[in-house]
Amino acid sequence: MKIDILTIFPDFFRGPLDYGIVRRARETGLVEINIHDLRAFTKDKHRTVDDRPFGGGEGMVLKPEPIFECLESFGDVASREARLAPGAKQSVILLSAQGRRLDQMLAAELSALDRIVLICGRYEGVDERISEHLADREVSIGDYVLSGGELGAAVIVDTITRLIPGAVGNQNSTRQESFTEHAELTSDGPSSTCVSGGLLDYPHYTRPAEFRGMAVPEVLVNGNHEQIRNWRRKTALAKTLRNRPDLLERVALSAEDKELLAQIKLAQGTDGDGASPVSTKD
Ligand code: SAM
Repeated sequence: MKIDILTIFPDFFRGPLDYGIVRRARETGLVEINIHDLRAFTKDKHRTVDDRPFGGGEGMVLKPEPIFECLESFGDVASREARLAPGAKQSVILLSAQGRRLDQMLAAELSALDRIVLICGRYEGVDERISEHLADREVSIGDYVLSGGELGAAVIVDTITRLIPGAVGNQNSTRQESFTEHAELTSDGPSSTCVSGGLLDYPHYTRPAEFRGMAVPEVLVNGNHEQIRNWRRKTALAKTLRNRPDLLERVALSAEDKELLAQIKLAQGTDGDGASPVSTKD
């Protein structure tokens, strides 16, 4: 996959894209990331990228010319019409608080593309002609306003890179993560048999088995894969109920899930505190 990022602050990306999975994916050629300085596409001696808004009002707006010209300089980005056609493998994305909110489903969709261009706004935003005639979609990383699109671009790059086959050592680990709804099972073992199915991920523990009097749940060290699978599903359901009950309305719960959920709610009712921490005991 090739990703181009358009920004007035190219140095912003020194660091965020140079670690861990994204760094390895760049080094192995799974993903190529190019950062473009929009000021290089200005023509005046002050390298002006912004101007006052028509109609008056606060702040400055990023001008359209440098953004159009930067994108056109690539030469291999399909037309907007072609990019909007079904099955298109390219997308030009404007980072915007007003865009479709990024979630795991959208990340999976984007990770299947060959080519992505990310346009980072600043100030009051970008000239609306960018979203009307250049970008094929607007994406927001959450319902809050950032100072610029750069953080959003880094978030998108990170979340889609880890979904590109080969980027994460064990691909099963991305299948079972929180929010992953359409997971497929490819191998045996307790970790791969406990996919998230749209719930939050189950709790993870590692050595030491006992730390400052805090013990790892017994079920995880007894080697009974069926009990581990059951415990993971139950704790994932409990955590989802506690932190993100909205997800429970969207996912398809099995009869076993419903039974486990009833047990969790009953236990919470007995505790008399719906917000109490999830029990990690079996
Ligand atoms: N006036 C805009 C509004 O109220 O929607 C906010 C502009 S914001 C200060 C400047 C830039 O930050 C935007 O053009 C966009 O690129 C980026 N930005 C802000 N919030 C964002 C979010 N939640 N997701 C993605 N990008 C965001």
